[in-house]
Amino acid sequence: MSDEGIVLVAGGGGFIGGHLVHELARQGRKVRSVDCKPLDDWFQIEPDAECARLDLSDREACAAAVDGVDTVFNLAADMGGMGFIEANKARCMLSVLINTHLLMAALESDVDRYFYASSACVYAAEKQTDAEVTPLKEGDAYPAMPEDGYGWEKLFSERMCRHFREDFGLETRVARFHNVYGPFGTFEGGREKAPAAICRKIIEAKLSGRHEIEVWGDGEQTRSFMYIDDCLYGTQLIAGGDALEPLNLGSDRLVTINQLVDIVESIAGIRVKRRYNRFAPVGVRGRNSDNTLLEATLGWAPSITLEEGLESTYAWIHDQIVSRAPVAIARRRSA
Ligand code: NAD
Repeated sequence: MSDEGIVLVAGGGGFIGGHLVHELARQGRKVRSVDCKPLDDWFQIEPDAECARLDLSDREACAAAVDGVDTVFNLAADMGGMGFIEANKARCMLSVLINTHLLMAALESDVDRYFYASSACVYAAEKQTDAEVTPLKEGDAYPAMPEDGYGWEKLFSERMCRHFREDFGLETRVARFHNVYGPFGTFEGGREKAPAAICRKIIEAKLSGRHEIEVWGDGEQTRSFMYIDDCLYGTQLIAGGDALEPLNLGSDRLVTINQLVDIVESIAGIRVKRRYNRFAPVGVRGRNSDNTLLEATLGWAPSITLEEGLESTYAWIHDQIVSRAPVAIARRRSA
């Protein structure tokens, strides 16, 4: 993969895309960051990147976005946590337009490498019925019965990447992200995922003095959670590597939502009463990443601990809530 040309990050106004733009700029890459949101709503604005507002479900917008680009990272999708994807299946499926038009534009522009961010939601529901779930291997996506709406779109888009490579020679790479968390992401409004939601609820409980939170389900459903820095590192390895088939990119440490709450409680220094909402959307009973193929392929796997990652996530959400400053801020970390 060339490290000279322009890199397009589609969805650069979002959580993972914003971090990736920043990281690539820090490495000295020329970056174009595109998102459909107004720039004021982007989580991060990288001063060294070219930032543009375009709706990438539109074919011509995709052509403009990939013009002169060597590498595409497609992280743009209309998505959110379980509360959003269970209530917005059609909207999630419409993200197929983004990947379709970006692939077509990338092919026409002779892009060298195309990375697609897929999801653990592609895995068959019947393999995730137990909290003590057997970690999911890449082959478990078939026979297919993914998460309705969002998961079907991801599986179809993975498949489209494969066929653009096989039929047209476009070098596509795919990672299946498992629950990514960290600062500069959604923590309220309905699209937030469990780690950010639990941090927000415990921060609000602490600030209000009312030490009680709602937990979705019975709290015994399990997941694994990957910190954003591991996600960025793995994404770049997979995008630049030789693995032609989709690879899991996630932590393989399985925790219950109750254990997640325990960790955030100890960061906050308070204990909260847990009110279980058994009618809330919770998704599959258990999900974990099998990293055998990832380790064999890359010689690496995510390793940042949940305690470490939640500490900085909690601190950032705390600052946002306390200051209630606009979320989109310019920042520049020292290299
Ligand atoms: P995010 O919602 O923060 O970012 C996605 C961005 O895409 C948003 O800023 C949104 O405005 C943008 N977008 C949506 N429709 C668009 C359009 N038509 N044109 C241009 N931009 C558009 O989500 P994220 O957590 O950063 O996720 C990035 C990618 O990783 C997504 O494809 C998501 O499905 C995938 N993924 C994320 C996770 C996770 O835990 N965060 C897990 C699995 C897969």
